[in-house]
Amino acid sequence: MAIDVHIHTHGDEESAAVLKALDQIGLERAVLFAVPPHRNDWGDAASSHRASIDQLAALVAADPERLIGFAWIEPTLPDALEGIDYAFEEKMLRGVKMIPNHWYPNDERAQACYQRIEQHGKPMLFHTGILWGLSDTSQYCRPAFFEIMLHYPGIRFAMAHISWPWTDECLAVNGKFKSNQRGEWTSYVDITSGAPRIWKVDALRKALAYLGDTHLLYGSDAHLPGGTDYAALRLREDREMLREAGAVTETIERIMTTNALRWLGLD
Ligand SMILES: [Zn+2]
Repeated sequence: MAIDVHIHTHGDEESAAVLKALDQIGLERAVLFAVPPHRNDWGDAASSHRASIDQLAALVAADPERLIGFAWIEPTLPDALEGIDYAFEEKMLRGVKMIPNHWYPNDERAQACYQRIEQHGKPMLFHTGILWGLSDTSQYCRPAFFEIMLHYPGIRFAMAHISWPWTDECLAVNGKFKSNQRGEWTSYVDITSGAPRIWKVDALRKALAYLGDTHLLYGSDAHLPGGTDYAALRLREDREMLREAGAVTETIERIMTTNALRWLGLD
């Protein structure tokens, strides 16, 4: 059994179908992201986070043990801070997903959000690396920009897609968090695909050699239940690629479950 930390929602999923998909794939739990508040036409930009959060909270309420809801916070919207409080105080969501979309990770509006998330003691997952589908915004998602998180030592955060194609930069940044911080090592590498196999196996080999196996997380980037077959394929191929990169069974176990529980604060 595994934990998938990177599942997207469209907003029209039914809990029973998603839980059934988890069983079919062999997933113990999954982290589900809300629909981006800026990408749905909720009509009122001043309360779009609330709508996105409500939708996800209803989906995960059926089994909050297995379905771990992450609010999607867009710091440039006027209700971002309110959305964070709402997600954690009223809707019992468990973390935050963000994509730096035409703002840099050190943007003041984003930092106001990190402060609030840190107060709530919740984990984050950032899209990092090249970004498909949101026009010319990859440049904002380069790994070195996430050094800003050194100023938020209370947030465990994951960098998705090993920041492909900037995988070396991603590993270097994580190496810095590993060695530089007093206290807890707060950065995690989400190995969710994006990188074609030839780069991914190479990056995994380097990650294991340089960072060890305690701060890597598994994810699929699937939608469920529509992407059930895709999620199952990803799980199978990622296990293969980890083996190819030299991972032993205990290492795969950490990457697929133990590390995610620690990142989520559930260990
Ligand atoms: Zn994704």
